Amino acid sequence: MTMTRSPREPVRITLDKQTLTIEATFRYGASCFNLHPASQIAYADLIEAGIRRKWTTSFEVDERLQRALDRFADSRNLPKKNRPDVTRPLQVEVKIYRHSVHGMTYGETVKPAAKPIHIRLSRTTLLPSRVGSPLWRRAWGFFRVFQIEGLGLNWTRKERGIMTMAPYPHVWQVESVAAHEFGHLMGLGDAYGAIYRFYYEAPGTDNYLMRNNRRLSAEELAMVLDAERTNKMQFFPKSFEKKRFKAGLKREIARIKKQVGDTK
Ligand SMILES: [Zn+2]
Repeated sequence: MTMTRSPREPVRITLDKQTLTIEATFRYGASCFNLHPASQIAYADLIEAGIRRKWTTSFEVDERLQRALDRFADSRNLPKKNRPDVTRPLQVEVKIYRHSVHGMTYGETVKPAAKPIHIRLSRTTLLPSRVGSPLWRRAWGFFRVFQIEGLGLNWTRKERGIMTMAPYPHVWQVESVAAHEFGHLMGLGDAYGAIYRFYYEAPGTDNYLMRNNRRLSAEELAMVLDAERTNKMQFFPKSFEKKRFKAGLKREIARIKKQVGDTK
């Protein structure tokens, strides 16, 4: 494991005594600069605001987070004196850069990644927002991680997937979903009862970003560090139960029928 990351990689994570900094570079599809009708703010601005709002936070360092921090710092050969002081809260900061194709310059000291993350805006809210890999990467995603979740997103540090946002009518929806999808870009699986989780909600995750788009938790941050260190997507525990799966499927079909009916 090397200490420095290639400047081409779309995300950089750095640690110092008090702060964990995540730097990401985005390249937007043209329609992301359309104005969101209700707020008259560009979708790109809402997406970034949502990510900053939910990811700029601080945590008391519990055992789980401390273990992830130690392993991460070890993998980077970070000297002891530069490691977080775990007796104090750890600050999380997110910096989002726009790729140079958008005409952004950030001055001498800031170097946005050469290889950005692609962000798109879909035309309708019929399909949920998502982070997915290009088709050519999908087939072996499953075999890499042996998870059905790996079918859509074959995540690595270099290939984090493409984020597609649905054009939600409310600002809070765009913002909180963007923050959730950013979690996928950072290598996190879902915690809510999605079909590929057999409608099983990971226990103890009620207020998690990957469950209800609520807020980033210390465990999720620890998983981000693990994903970064191991170069593997981190999944919440799953369990299959026939009864729950059938009931969930029934609910989902009813919901889709209703949604299709509404848009007719
Ligand atoms: Zn998700």
